[in-house]
Amino acid sequence: MRFSTKAIHVGQQPDPTTGATVPPIHVTSTYTQAAPGQSKGFEYSRTDNPTRRNYEAALAALENGQAAAAFASGLAASAAIIGSLLRPGDSLVAFSDLYGGTYRLFERVFRPWGLLPRYTDRTDPAAFGELVDTTTRLVWIETPTNPLLRVLDIAAVVHAVRDAEQRLGMDAERRILVVVDNTFATPALQLPLALGADLAVHSTTKYVGGHSDLVGGAVVAAEARTLEPIRFYQNAAGGVPGAFDCFLAHRGLKTLALRMARHCENAQRIAEWAVSQGAFEKVIYPGLSTHPQHELAKRQMGGFGGMVTCVLRGGFAAASKFMASTRLFSCAESLGGVESLINHPAVMTHASIPREVRERIGIVDGLVRLSVGVEDVADLIEDLQQALRA
Ligand SMILES: *Cc1c(COP(=O)(O)O)cnc(C)c1O
Repeated sequence: MRFSTKAIHVGQQPDPTTGATVPPIHVTSTYTQAAPGQSKGFEYSRTDNPTRRNYEAALAALENGQAAAAFASGLAASAAIIGSLLRPGDSLVAFSDLYGGTYRLFERVFRPWGLLPRYTDRTDPAAFGELVDTTTRLVWIETPTNPLLRVLDIAAVVHAVRDAEQRLGMDAERRILVVVDNTFATPALQLPLALGADLAVHSTTKYVGGHSDLVGGAVVAAEARTLEPIRFYQNAAGGVPGAFDCFLAHRGLKTLALRMARHCENAQRIAEWAVSQGAFEKVIYPGLSTHPQHELAKRQMGGFGGMVTCVLRGGFAAASKFMASTRLFSCAESLGGVESLINHPAVMTHASIPREVRERIGIVDGLVRLSVGVEDVADLIEDLQQALRA
């Protein structure tokens, strides 16, 4: 099956007892057994739940993975990867341009616990090969990154890491896993596992859910055995999503390809419009030919995504006035919903990154991040235009 067919059909068998075309939401914590030890495959909903299982099957199919595990948030999914696969003294190599909460998780939760995170701010894949050593268990990248929309060559990073393993003489048991946060692109636009990555991690709060009405996360593994410790951790540590959220996220998957196509189309139009406005010092969108990794994005992605980042002339005062003046774009954290949002990373989503680090990587005070929704793009442009005038 191809993408949209999988999105509609995997994990969606009609209910065998009633024929309900859409499987029911299994709102139950426990499962009645015929006799002790005689269950129908489910015992307790932290361990497994039919609604969650169907959703995980769909996620795995869409990401081209063998298995998936759903979590209560994107950060719970990320924490499960580190908590289950790494031990004190292990190092992790990451791209410095990371979601703020992921950086905080590495630095403030796992560093005190013994994890040694190391960062590179180079998009050159060789940088990852140079930073790994025999203590490295994970290489963690986001692409496109949040909020600077830098694009990394996934296949080349995997290649550099595999070369480094050979150079270091690491055996198969110590293989370094490459993790790609695929939240921004989604499997509708980019398939990291098909490019050689071992794990894809998601905040399903964003495009997968797609309607700004749930918080969730997921890990998808290229090979089922890689997911085993994560699956164990899912049950043992328990950061699982409830059945209602699994249902909502699964419903989101069904329209993911349709929504992403519209997000991409609208974002491209807005980016091109913004370039023509003198008020912006800089417009960042992978679909612009001026984007430094435009050619790579074209090769690696099936579309350039729904996020547009702009730097307004006039710093924080201008950005703040602009953001308070939009009517359709809501000033809010998060992204990926059908409705357009506008965010100020330095004050909002990325406030947990120290100022000097933030400014060094380019998250300046005039920078605003647009999550372009699926509204009529002419209305969105008019809204931005009137906010610029204000
Ligand atoms: C939002 C986000 C996360 C964290 O996910 P939550 O669902 O908020 O816990 C991780 N990575 C990226 C790229 C995100 O945008």
